[in-house]
Amino acid sequence: MAAQSESVTELFGSKVFNEATMRERLPKNVFKALKKTIDRGHSLDPAVADVVANSMKDWAIENGATHFCHWFQPMTGFTAEKHDAFISPLPDGHIMVEFSGKELTKGEPDASSFPSGGLRSTFEARGYTAWDCTSPVFIKENGKNITLYIPCAFCSYTGLALDKKTPLLRSMDALNTQAVRVLKALGENVSSVTPTMGPEQEYFLLDRFFFEKRLDLVLTGRTLFGAPSPRGQEMEDHYFGTLHERVASFMHEVNIELWKLGVYAKTQHNEVAPAQYELAPVFATVNVATDHNQLAMETLQKIALRHDFVCLLHEKPFAGVNGSGKHNNWSMVTDKGNNLLDPGNTPHDNMVFLIMLCAVVKAVDKYAKILRASVATPGNEHRLGANEAPPAIVSIFLGDQLTDIFDQLGSGGAKTSKQGGELKLGVTTLPPLPKDSTDRNRTSPFAFTGNKFEFRMVGSMQSTAGSNFVLNTIVADVLCDIADELEKSKDVKSAAQKICADIAKNHNRIIFNGDNYTEAWVKEAAKRGLSNIASTVDSLKTVMDEINVKMFKKHKVLSKAELHARTEILLEAYAKTLNIEGLTMLNMAKRQILPACMAYSGDLAQTIAALSTAGAAAIAQKAMLEKTDTLIASLYTNIENLEKAVAKASSFGDIEKKAKSYSTDVVAAMLMVRQTADELESIVDAELWPLPTYAEMLFLR
Ligand code: ADP
Ligand code: MG
Repeated sequence: MAAQSESVTELFGSKVFNEATMRERLPKNVFKALKKTIDRGHSLDPAVADVVANSMKDWAIENGATHFCHWFQPMTGFTAEKHDAFISPLPDGHIMVEFSGKELTKGEPDASSFPSGGLRSTFEARGYTAWDCTSPVFIKENGKNITLYIPCAFCSYTGLALDKKTPLLRSMDALNTQAVRVLKALGENVSSVTPTMGPEQEYFLLDRFFFEKRLDLVLTGRTLFGAPSPRGQEMEDHYFGTLHERVASFMHEVNIELWKLGVYAKTQHNEVAPAQYELAPVFATVNVATDHNQLAMETLQKIALRHDFVCLLHEKPFAGVNGSGKHNNWSMVTDKGNNLLDPGNTPHDNMVFLIMLCAVVKAVDKYAKILRASVATPGNEHRLGANEAPPAIVSIFLGDQLTDIFDQLGSGGAKTSKQGGELKLGVTTLPPLPKDSTDRNRTSPFAFTGNKFEFRMVGSMQSTAGSNFVLNTIVADVLCDIADELEKSKDVKSAAQKICADIAKNHNRIIFNGDNYTEAWVKEAAKRGLSNIASTVDSLKTVMDEINVKMFKKHKVLSKAELHARTEILLEAYAKTLNIEGLTMLNMAKRQILPACMAYSGDLAQTIAALSTAGAAAIAQKAMLEKTDTLIASLYTNIENLEKAVAKASSFGDIEKKAKSYSTDVVAAMLMVRQTADELESIVDAELWPLPTYAEMLFLR
């Protein structure tokens, strides 16, 4: 651990080959060439790559590294890495330390065991990793092993994307192209537009002692059993509460590690559920922010173990208390540093802002289904629509000021902006606070929050690549139509006004500022014709809708084959996850819970026999035995039903049918097993119960 005295400024980025390090270490012309590649996407000259690689290697070795690795993000949603030492044998039996430009820029891991959704057969094992030079290389210390990490994209022999990063990078290009077209047409002097992202990461911390006693947590990341704790989150005392000392020490160490890696870890606090927390970094360019989020998730898990905690990233580790999401804050920034979603003081006459705002509104309305599908995972199914997270209905919160402007746009043009004014607290010693023009709305899935949109449906465990490549592309698509209009118009100003007016009129239905958690909204949304797809499998089935295929193809983000492969992989992952959950549940029910319940009923029977011999009536004992025995019988039946459901689901060859069967038959059968088991937990002798309880897991740390 770093010494406390080491200043944060010195620590920050100390393990990153960042721009400052490059400038310091690379010959001027090489630095310039590399900068051009990074900033403008020019391809890297191999001679330059050799010099860069050599300098990186020297820097890495000075920092104790022995290996380098191409670090990529296959469709598993996790990261992958294959390490190579910096050594080359010499004829005399010695070795030479070496790292070439080719080794830096291209890797060839055996791709055969990564999910490809049929894009590549196992016998065609070739896959390539290519350096994403817009995300800086860094050094990671893993125990004694110190390695140079090279962020990469991963594709097949035929150039098809096999990872999460390639479409993200392609979507950034698409957004850049279309946004620049629009801005140029509006007379703005810009040369590039980049999407920015700040992910708020939620997680749970659990004492390792309890974790290791629960096979469900070990194998599936969530509890499959567990009666509610007598105390849950109803006291609302955990949210923003004082940090527990052990947790604070953990967070401190997480920050140090992340700062070294150049991750702008900034905000940390207790979240709503007991034992739940949040970490948010300062936003960055989406691909870098996505890499950093992967590092953050990994670091949270690694450092937790050092503190005898386990960090749970699953969307729903515990039933009955809030699950975890990842609020995906998103905006666009120009090369001049202007945030395109910053309304300024008078948003009604800020045409660039209005156009961008309208583009996002139209994109979210037109492509609500694919946006919903970008967060369709097994874990997230427990959150969306469960009245603790946004519902599965996509809608936008604009707030008072912008809704007012949006309405004005729809009825002849925006003329004024409502202002926030001042907040007076009624205490002379407290300063008046400038009031925001809009209150917050915690229940909206897609909320405008001052100068960015916050997409709140993303699951805590998900890579942010998916939600962002979809967001970038749908907005690029709408901007493309807008650019077409503007470029051919003689009077750009009135054309822009007309575009905004049309969008305000035609896409009004997606705006909703009320409480998204209510039943009334569900009804209202149905009336408005908004989709409400609660099931992960049903949502994934919409990915191949013609409208999506066309859009991804048009902007060269994903071909039809790539999109199809991705859908297969996600359906496959759903089925596999549910299969593991079903089998884990069966294992625990049969080998831990049933035996404990039987021991308890055996004890009761013995007591009853002894009491009867002694002439006692054993009324309570008999009632308890009967109740326990009845529940054991139902548990046994429910276990048998779950066995049948898993067998049935796994027997389907067609992946859609298979995933559907897991999501209906298996999920329903699992619920039944859980219900009876949880009921038994509430009556069986605590000494005999084989699993740590919710109360212990959520409240002891
Ligand atoms: P909240 O009050 O919503 O919990 P946080 O401070 O926890 O807010 O997180 C807000 C996130 O939004 C941070 O990661 C922040 O860097 C990010 N953010 C701010 N501005 C932008 C922007 N222009 N683009 C993308 N993300 C942004
Ligand atoms: Mg937050």
